Amino acid sequence: MIPYGRQDITSEDIDAVVGVLQSDFLTQGPQVPHFENKLIAYTGVKHAIAVNSATSALHISCLALGLGPGDYLWTTPITFAASANCALYCGAIVDFVDIDPDTGNLCVLALEKKLLLAEKSGTLPKIVMPVHLAGRPCEMRTIHALGKRFGFSVIEDASHAVGAQYMNTSIGDCRYSDITIFSFHPVKIITTAEGGAALTNSGKLAERLRLLRSHGITRDPKQMEETPQGDWYYEQITLGFNYRMNDIQAALGSSQLERLDSYINRRRDIAKNYDILLKDLPISLFKYSDNSSYHLYTIRIDDKFSQTNRNEVFKRMRQHGVGVNVHYIPVHFHPYYRKLGFKSGDFPAAEKYYLEAMTLPIYPKLEDHELQFIANRLASALS
Ligand SMILES: *Cc1c(COP(=O)(O)O)cnc(C)c1O
Repeated sequence: MIPYGRQDITSEDIDAVVGVLQSDFLTQGPQVPHFENKLIAYTGVKHAIAVNSATSALHISCLALGLGPGDYLWTTPITFAASANCALYCGAIVDFVDIDPDTGNLCVLALEKKLLLAEKSGTLPKIVMPVHLAGRPCEMRTIHALGKRFGFSVIEDASHAVGAQYMNTSIGDCRYSDITIFSFHPVKIITTAEGGAALTNSGKLAERLRLLRSHGITRDPKQMEETPQGDWYYEQITLGFNYRMNDIQAALGSSQLERLDSYINRRRDIAKNYDILLKDLPISLFKYSDNSSYHLYTIRIDDKFSQTNRNEVFKRMRQHGVGVNVHYIPVHFHPYYRKLGFKSGDFPAAEKYYLEAMTLPIYPKLEDHELQFIANRLASALS
């Protein structure tokens, strides 16, 4: 089976990891700050805080921005559940903004409409979290402007968009957001096995994120309430977690980051090739975009054009050895979210998307002859 995504591990990666295993530090050595500095250099952001998953990064970002009981966080229903769960961890209330069918991303017109209503009822969100679905950047300038107008903070869930650009700058530079989150899970663009990072230009948020990453404990006398009683002394000044990335993961991440640009170039080539190979099939394609990181290559199978529906095509593709997938089940469809009061019909564009979307394999080592094979299989699955 050709999988929909797959990590690429080189002998350089293996050497980097072995090097850490032979060194004095496995957890809190020099590799984590080294990786953080490389993320800073790559994106142009001021601060990077590496953690053990993007989910952890989302959680402490919400806390750092002061999200708490009674507050609202809005995100898109077409995302991985973690984008919404992080608000529930903080005791806050989650709501969703329907998607723009042309991009699959949170729709800024729907966002503005919902904000105007929320303003009247006094339920404006504290945080809005756009997700760059598949690596296609959201309309950050508009979202940022709405944030200024309605007084909310912005967290970009860029789990898919490491290496993407928006308006000629790198995703992750936080030009239009308070915090940006990266994921380094193996199916994502680069990997640290498990891992994530929170990026920000705010020194205050960075300090808060570092505290929350490690138990709320500080060794910095400037942050302490008491005078240090000796070299052993540290203080817990807030309630934090053990969300630290370790040196083994960070060394792998630094080594992978060296190949980020070549990965993105290859993903963009694959996407362009798919666009050509699939152009006459009865499906809809997203417009090729030269700033996307192409974490996913998604097509839509609309039964207006095709005699076969998505579920049937999906089954046939899997039977023929192509590991297609569906991203995503709308978050509000999950039983846990239904129990919070969400139901079918709440977000019609997202729900239609879910019936039609199918992810085709895309990863740097996918070969051109495999692309041709996938395109042939898709043509026959559709007929
Ligand atoms: C993968 C993913 C996450 C969670 O990433 P982890 O590193 O596995 O915690 C969050 N949001 C989105 C959109 C993702 O795709």
